[in-house]
Amino acid sequence: MPPVVARVITDLALDREFDYAIPPELRGQVHLGSVVRIPFGRRRARGFVTALLERSDFPDLKSLEGVVDTPPLFDASMLRLARWMADYYVAPFESAIAAILPAAVRREGARHKKQFIARLPGECTPTAADEAALARKAPKQAAAWTLLKEHREMTAAQLSELTGVSLAGLRSLEKKKWLALEKGVIIRDPYARMNILPTVPPPFMAEQQAALEAIRDEMAAPKPGVVLIHGVTGSGKTEVYLAAIQAALDAGKGAIALVPEISLTPQTMERFRGRFGDIVAVLHSHLSDGERHDEWQRIAAGQARVVVGARSALFAPVRPLGLLVVDEEHEPAYKQDEAPRYNARDVAVMRGHLEGCAVVLGSATPSLESYRNARDGKYRLVKMEQRVDCRVMPQVRVVDMRIATEKTGRPQLLSQELIEAVRLRLDRVEQTILFLNRRGYATTVMCPACGVTETCPNCSVKMTYHKSGETMMCHVCAAIRPVPSRCANPDCRAPNIKMAGVGTQRVEMAVHKIFPRARIARMDSDTTGGKHSHADILGRFRRGEIDILIGTQMIAKGLDFPHVTLVGVIQADLSLQMPDFRAAERTFQLLTQVAGRAGRGDIPGEVFIQTYTPFHPAVQSARNAHFENFFDQEIEVRREMRYPPFTRLTTVLFRGLDEGAVAACAKDFADQLRATLPRTVRLTGPAPAPLAKAKNHFRIQFMLWASATKEYVPPLRALLKDFKLPKGVTIAVNVDALSLT
Ligand code: ADP
Ligand code: ZN
Repeated sequence: MPPVVARVITDLALDREFDYAIPPELRGQVHLGSVVRIPFGRRRARGFVTALLERSDFPDLKSLEGVVDTPPLFDASMLRLARWMADYYVAPFESAIAAILPAAVRREGARHKKQFIARLPGECTPTAADEAALARKAPKQAAAWTLLKEHREMTAAQLSELTGVSLAGLRSLEKKKWLALEKGVIIRDPYARMNILPTVPPPFMAEQQAALEAIRDEMAAPKPGVVLIHGVTGSGKTEVYLAAIQAALDAGKGAIALVPEISLTPQTMERFRGRFGDIVAVLHSHLSDGERHDEWQRIAAGQARVVVGARSALFAPVRPLGLLVVDEEHEPAYKQDEAPRYNARDVAVMRGHLEGCAVVLGSATPSLESYRNARDGKYRLVKMEQRVDCRVMPQVRVVDMRIATEKTGRPQLLSQELIEAVRLRLDRVEQTILFLNRRGYATTVMCPACGVTETCPNCSVKMTYHKSGETMMCHVCAAIRPVPSRCANPDCRAPNIKMAGVGTQRVEMAVHKIFPRARIARMDSDTTGGKHSHADILGRFRRGEIDILIGTQMIAKGLDFPHVTLVGVIQADLSLQMPDFRAAERTFQLLTQVAGRAGRGDIPGEVFIQTYTPFHPAVQSARNAHFENFFDQEIEVRREMRYPPFTRLTTVLFRGLDEGAVAACAKDFADQLRATLPRTVRLTGPAPAPLAKAKNHFRIQFMLWASATKEYVPPLRALLKDFKLPKGVTIAVNVDALSLT
């Protein structure tokens, strides 16, 4: 007997599924993952089928009203993964379902878009004279015709975007039978305009070969495991991923490669497309909804077998899945910042486990968590210590800025050493990257008389001075204010407001002053507003039209420019000062990544790290490119302090406009929770978060520490269910939190 009851999850219900009777006329059409229409209270709703049952324990079931005509959106193993995420990350089940399905696919009316398509007809070709006449009479139509001749098939929308031709114009060409117009579906390809040359795999270096063998071993194992590739920047990891993906394809399976959003540059896409052609699908946040929908459907239909994308690409419906790659596995960008607050790397390991597929984690600076797993034998560790073609690792120099400051009597932006190094590069027509992880011009706007700094009225952060427009900006809420002419402190009102601290704009101006003839560009979120400007700047840099590129972490990662022979880190201490026990780890990672941008071509690279704490282990290990040293020192600190990876940390954050209400609620919740926690769990706080106020919302949090999350998750979940949050206060649970701010 076919199942007669469907269990359904819908966005309307909080963390609950409901049973519905399947009316006889729909039996056989309802599957796991089907989208169904349901009555819900007095409303109608859409839901997803999470189970099919022979009977229900609930009496008087309502009936399904219909099945939406799309293939099922998930299967049993995807469903299991969603349930695991909801459980592990203490999130409502419907939010986990929402996480595995792109909104563009989940939404009502999601389908391929029908639009006008122009095609060349088989027969009639106009003569040159006809064409010349058209060019005189209707130049836009003529331009559209020329384009269409070349491409044979284009949408009316594309033709009109490129030539300005109207639909009426195309209709008139249709009348003359130069082209045929019809309504149809064209799969939107986000990379249609890229002209990508096919590539072939290079002969492998010994270390690459060994890495590939290790992955192949795991892929062939009855229970494939996790391979951690610790490979220095430029050791050829990406080539190893490509070869391993080829092996998955050869075995009749598909693959997913995750990259941090930040390194989803056209460059990365080109490498995958160049190797595998249009069976590569791309998923990232800059796609339009339509593009995302079409890419997802192309994967679901099995037309795309290789998926490259950011965080959520992890849930792409590749079947069967042969390999999951997580590049730059240490990246905090893999953590989702709304419920479920999952870490894509960790969920990838779980998906691999559930689906019996091998997982590859790669990084030049693995997270302490992953490296410890490898040391403990949970992951298979592969090392790649040589750069491809035996290119040498860049020479790293640490510049002690205390000395430079002492010599001149005031803080220096650029040391003499770094200036000379840049000059040398300009003389040799080589390129330089200058890195500073702070945008804006000056980071404080301060009254020299009373010392009061300008802070954001909505957030507990200082205003940053931006030279363009002479304004102060809050980097949390984006509030913009004119720079005051007098001190804001009513008891002071002194004039001569001062700017202090450095941002990328200031570096740009200083460099411009020293090297007036150099071609300089700056790349940070102030300069990359437009859709393509990010790619534009990088394109100009690649073509050698820029000598010196100044930027924030946007330029720190993944970029591969062979003519860059010098990297300067303006202020390495910035990230060390973060109020977070991972500050040293982040600094080490950042310095190593930035340094890795130098010397990727034939000329060896040089790196200058300017710092006021030259002997900090993070700085010293980055200088020696010695990950193991850093790991050994840092892991001892973590062990002693009982920080992750020796404990599992969860933050519970309360937010609201009324500071008193938020504080009272946090305290009440923490007190109640504390009473039910086992003795093995440590609860610290509640206390104001380092970012105590953002966008007018006060932020108060407490933290839970234990050797496993399962020691505190059940009591936490139980309390969340019963606890009545006061109006205006929200709560955010972050399991395995990566940031304490
Ligand atoms: P990683 O991902 O470790 O930074 P890549 O895979 O990007 O390293 O390799 C760095 C550069 O070296 C790329 O331009 C790549 O095409 C090239 N490369 C990688 N492996 C080889 C090889 N075996 N022979 C020649 N060139 C290679
Ligand atoms: Zn603000």
